[in-house]
Amino acid sequence: MRDPGRRLRLLLVGGGHSHLEVLRRFGRGSLPNVELLMISAYAEHHYSGMVPGFLAGQYREESVRFLLEPLVSAMGGVFRQGSVASLHPADQAVVLTDGTRVPYDLVSFGVGSRPAGSQSAEVASHASVVKPMSRVVELHHRLLAAAKSESEGAGKAYHAGVVGGGAAGVEIVLAMDAFLRDEGRRRDLFLVEAGESILEGYPRGFRRLILRIFADRSIRVMTGTRVAGVEPEALLLAGGRRLEAHLTVWLTGAVGDPLFRTSGLAVDERGFMLVDDGLRSVTDQRVFGAGDCVTLENYPDTPKAGVYAVRQGPVLWESLRAAVLGGRPPRYRPQDGFLSILNTGDGKALLHYKGFIVHSRWAFSLKDWIDHRFMEKYKRLVPSSS
Ligand SMILES: Cc1cc2nc3c(=O)[nH]c(=O)nc-3n(C[C@H](O)[C@H](O)[C@H](O)COP(=O)(O)OP(=O)(O)OC[C@H]3O[C@@H](n4cnc5c(N)ncnc54)[C@H](O)[C@@H]3O)c2cc1C
Repeated sequence: MRDPGRRLRLLLVGGGHSHLEVLRRFGRGSLPNVELLMISAYAEHHYSGMVPGFLAGQYREESVRFLLEPLVSAMGGVFRQGSVASLHPADQAVVLTDGTRVPYDLVSFGVGSRPAGSQSAEVASHASVVKPMSRVVELHHRLLAAAKSESEGAGKAYHAGVVGGGAAGVEIVLAMDAFLRDEGRRRDLFLVEAGESILEGYPRGFRRLILRIFADRSIRVMTGTRVAGVEPEALLLAGGRRLEAHLTVWLTGAVGDPLFRTSGLAVDERGFMLVDDGLRSVTDQRVFGAGDCVTLENYPDTPKAGVYAVRQGPVLWESLRAAVLGGRPPRYRPQDGFLSILNTGDGKALLHYKGFIVHSRWAFSLKDWIDHRFMEKYKRLVPSSS
């Protein structure tokens, strides 16, 4: 039971899209008897929409990341860097990987997703990941090293690629290609996908266009190809083939953070926390969640995409407010379809919206404008930030 003299403890886990909006609204001061603590695995949060552009060399790192501590403190909260390892709803506490126990009255998760299989020892040791998103900095350093290794390689091609042919995998391999090309590095790039086609769920015309772009840039696309093992400099493909790979990025289908399965809260078959229309756990109304880490009980097929996480931000805030002040939580209904723009790393982007498809510089300019507007909305909350 909470001592009535004590302020209510609101814990936000993860610094992703929806929590940025909760922070912004908390900063307006309409919940005075609440203390807000954000715990996130990294001191920065890298905005996924601009991450491929960062890897391609189109943006500097400062342009694509938020520094969480200054932002949280400007909004009147406290930031702590740490990874939540487990959630204990009966005790109203989370435990961090360093063993610290952190109690809460209300907790909200915005911890994103993990690529399936990324926790296997082989993948963890020999492949790069971009989830959590801040791991992209390590990948960037590997690409920089690859560019410098030209002389040692005596002109030998650098073999690199991505496992997983979803939108993120497509953007990342194109970004790697663009970066290495601009650095003058000889390269042999690949995209491996276990399913029968890449970009599953996208219209056929869109997929055809992307395959043409891959062909023009000599990037090998291997569909229907399962990876059986990951070695330091190679992938073992099912059937016994060995694919040389100095660098592999693991970006297979999304699964939930294991912390949800062990919490005793209801999860779906991929381990995402099940939430109601008010973004509350269907098991415990003191636990909230938004973005990739949740599955909506009433809209289970909602895509795991940043645009949905952004739209959930205001709903999450209203739902948390209702939990603090009393009243009915809002009802979130995901929009039908969304504007999809993939950065192809060559100054152009491939845009798809309700059957309209175009690959152009204009589409990149639109994406660039949308992404900068998003960054600016939160960066300007911190007085001294650029
Ligand atoms: C390369 C790439 C490009 C993409 N481009 C687009 C795009 O253009 N448009 C689009 O709509 N979607 C895009 N996506 C999908 C998009 O990234 C996700 O849908 C979106 O990031 C989900 O937002 P989120 O806030 O739920 O999680 P995230 O953005 O993943 O944020 C999770 C946060 O939680 C923190 N965290 C994670 N685990 C823990 C833990 N255990 N304890 C504490 N903190 C933790 C992380 O450090 C991070 O701050 C892209 C994905 C990738 C990989």
